[in-house]
Amino acid sequence: MSSSPDISKLALAHVPGLKAYTPGIQPGEAGWVKLNTNECPYPPSPKVVEALRREIGEDGGSLRLYPNPTSAPLRLAVAAMHGQAPENVCVGNGSDELLNLLVRCCCDGRAPAGFTLPSYSLYPVLISIQDGAPVGIEFDRDIRLPVEKIAGSTARAFFLTSPNAPTGVGFRTSEIEALLKSFDGLLIVDEAYAPFADEDAIPLLRRYPNLVVLRTLSKAFSLAGIRVGYALAAPEVIGWLDRIRDSYNVSRLSQTAALAALSDTAYYAGVIAKVKATRDRVHAEWSKTRGWFTYRSQSNFLFVEPRNGRGETGPAIARSAYEFLLSRKVLVRLFPSHALTAPFLRVSVGTDDEMSVLNQSLDVWQK
Ligand code: PMP
Repeated sequence: MSSSPDISKLALAHVPGLKAYTPGIQPGEAGWVKLNTNECPYPPSPKVVEALRREIGEDGGSLRLYPNPTSAPLRLAVAAMHGQAPENVCVGNGSDELLNLLVRCCCDGRAPAGFTLPSYSLYPVLISIQDGAPVGIEFDRDIRLPVEKIAGSTARAFFLTSPNAPTGVGFRTSEIEALLKSFDGLLIVDEAYAPFADEDAIPLLRRYPNLVVLRTLSKAFSLAGIRVGYALAAPEVIGWLDRIRDSYNVSRLSQTAALAALSDTAYYAGVIAKVKATRDRVHAEWSKTRGWFTYRSQSNFLFVEPRNGRGETGPAIARSAYEFLLSRKVLVRLFPSHALTAPFLRVSVGTDDEMSVLNQSLDVWQK
C-alpha cells in the first residue's frame, strides 16, 4: 500500500459532481426577523415542554436508552388523528428523511422520478444522490396542476407539493384524484403545509394504494427543531420504508415532543387560525395599498411580486427588496434560479409585530 493513497476515485463516479441542497440561512445570533424558512412564529404547546422535562427528569437517565425503534406510540397517535391504521404510518426524522427513503425505494437511472417546477428544490437533489433520472414538469404562471403532463411523463414516482411551495397555491382533492386516475406510478403528495390549506389528499388514501401523503410537525406544530415527519400510505409502501430506514431513526426526545404536540389539538387549532388570519390580512394589504401581486396562499407563507417606487417588477427588483430587508435584519427568501419565481419574494408568515417590522422596511425600500 502506498503511504498516501489516491482517494479521488473512491466515491461513486457521480458523487463528486453532486450539488448539495442549500437550506435557508439560520442566523446564530438574536435580533433577526426570521421569515425565510416557514417555521411557526409561535412556540409549541406548553404540553410539549412539560413532556420533555418529564422525559429528561432530574438526571437525564432515560437518555441512556435507545428510543422506541418504530416510534410505535407515535404511529398509533398519528393513525388515530387521521382515521388510519398504524400499519399505514411511518415516522421519520423530519419529512425530509421520508422523502429521502422514498427516493431510495423507487428511483434510479432506470426508474425516473418527477416533480413540478417550481416546487421543493430538495427533490432533484435527492434524485441526483441516487444517480437517478429527474423529470421536471413546468407550471404555467397560474400554477394549475398539470395532470396530463404528469400522467404522460416517464416518471415512475412523482413528488407533488400540495399546497405548492414556494407559491403557496393549493390544489383541490378532486384535482389530485384526477391525477391518481391517470397516473399509475407512486404519487407522493408532500403536504408539509396542508394544515393551513382548505383541502388535502388524505381522504384518497383508502382508494389509491399508489398514494403516499407526507406531513411534518415542523410547520403547524412549531417543532422544526425536533425533526419529526410522517408518511401515510398502504401497508406495503410503509413496509418498504421500514426495511431501509435507520433502526432508531427518531430520537427519544423527538418522539416525546411529537406525542405531546399531537395531544393538544385545541392549542394548535388556535395557532393555525392566527397564522391564517395574519397571512390573509397581509395579503389583502399588499394588494390594496401597494398594488403588489401575491398568489392566494394556502400555506404559512406568501409569495409576492414586489414593485419598486416606479412600479417596476422583475428579478432585479426582487433582489433589491431582498437585500434591503437583509440590511435591516429581516430575512426572507429569493428563488432566482427559475424564471417564474425570480421576480418574487417568499415571506413566511410571522407574528403581527414581525409583519409590521417587515412592512415598515418595505415602505422605506419602496420610496
Ligand atoms: N416539504 C416541503 C415542501 C418543505 O418546504 C419542507 C421544509 N422546508 C419539507 C418538506 C421538510 O420538512 P421537515 O423535514 O422539516 O419535516
